[in-house]
Amino acid sequence: MNTMLAARLIKAGLPLSIDEVPVPEPAPDEVLVKVGACGLCGTDLHLAVAGDIPVERTPITLGHEGAGTVAALGRDVRGLREGDRVVLFPAASCGACRFCLQGRESLCDTSKVYGMARDGALAEYVAAPARSTIALPAAVPFDIGAIVTDGVSTPFHALRSRGALRAGETVAVIGCGGLGTHAIMLARLMGAACVVAIDVDAGALARARALGADLTVNPAEEDAAKAVRKRLGGVDLALEFVGTPETVELALRVLGKGGRAVVVGVGTGRPALPPLLAFVGREQAVIGSFGMDRCDIVDLFALIAAGRLDLAQSISARYPLAQADAALRHLASRGVVRVVVVPNEE
Ligand SMILES: [Zn+2]
Ligand SMILES: [Zn+2]
Repeated sequence: MNTMLAARLIKAGLPLSIDEVPVPEPAPDEVLVKVGACGLCGTDLHLAVAGDIPVERTPITLGHEGAGTVAALGRDVRGLREGDRVVLFPAASCGACRFCLQGRESLCDTSKVYGMARDGALAEYVAAPARSTIALPAAVPFDIGAIVTDGVSTPFHALRSRGALRAGETVAVIGCGGLGTHAIMLARLMGAACVVAIDVDAGALARARALGADLTVNPAEEDAAKAVRKRLGGVDLALEFVGTPETVELALRVLGKGGRAVVVGVGTGRPALPPLLAFVGREQAVIGSFGMDRCDIVDLFALIAAGRLDLAQSISARYPLAQADAALRHLASRGVVRVVVVPNEE
């Protein structure tokens, strides 16, 4: 039997276990992908460290930001060949439900997220339904391809599909970690007239400014909503990446007339709406944005391959698979955009 190494979650709070396990056998509709890179994200910290997002079973191989090459094909797979470069859509969506048919895979009725509901890409190999793979252009390296699948496509989805950003509008980004940093870069690329970065960490704000934020506001130092309204009279679009009632309410308070607050951060809190007279009278909106759709990833690859979007500074560190747990700890430290694990060198 062929075996491989996989970084598995045994129990939240314990270090990831690097285990020798069988190489998965692809089902008739699946491909086996030799993993070239797997990104880690804040969700992995919730799963493996805090334990406040449950997994369907343990042990489970983590990793929902996978990129690599097709190494074997299930017998019914058409349109893919061994050696093809691919990324995995972060969840194996069904391809047949009403939402999948609308191109809204983020809402698929039966999707199974890698590393939560099925074994993920933090391993030498991962099996994936062929329909949940996306071609990776030769011009995009595996590590960049991996982080695009979630770390970059999630803010793109929030800006474009949910926030409906138009060129010339003003944007506030609340929470400038990995997702927020990419939101700032993308808002610039999409023609925002002004991007305000809001974060309590001075280092995150300095990085935001270096990557394209026009203004920075630190809520630990001043009343952030007042500061934004004073300088811009309220923004057209606010993106929230933290997931607390305070930050969602801040996203609403920085809006101008006709403004939309798009909430990406998740949590258990219950934020309040502004007084209805103001909220309704100003035609404001609060919109949830969950993950991404396939088209977000495809379009980002086109932007990267064309040289329009440079993500070279987005990968803070690379680790071999044997050090996957150290990679996860590194992700938890300040000043990190994205950490990538490289199970097989290209
Ligand atoms: Zn993620
Ligand atoms: Zn579906």
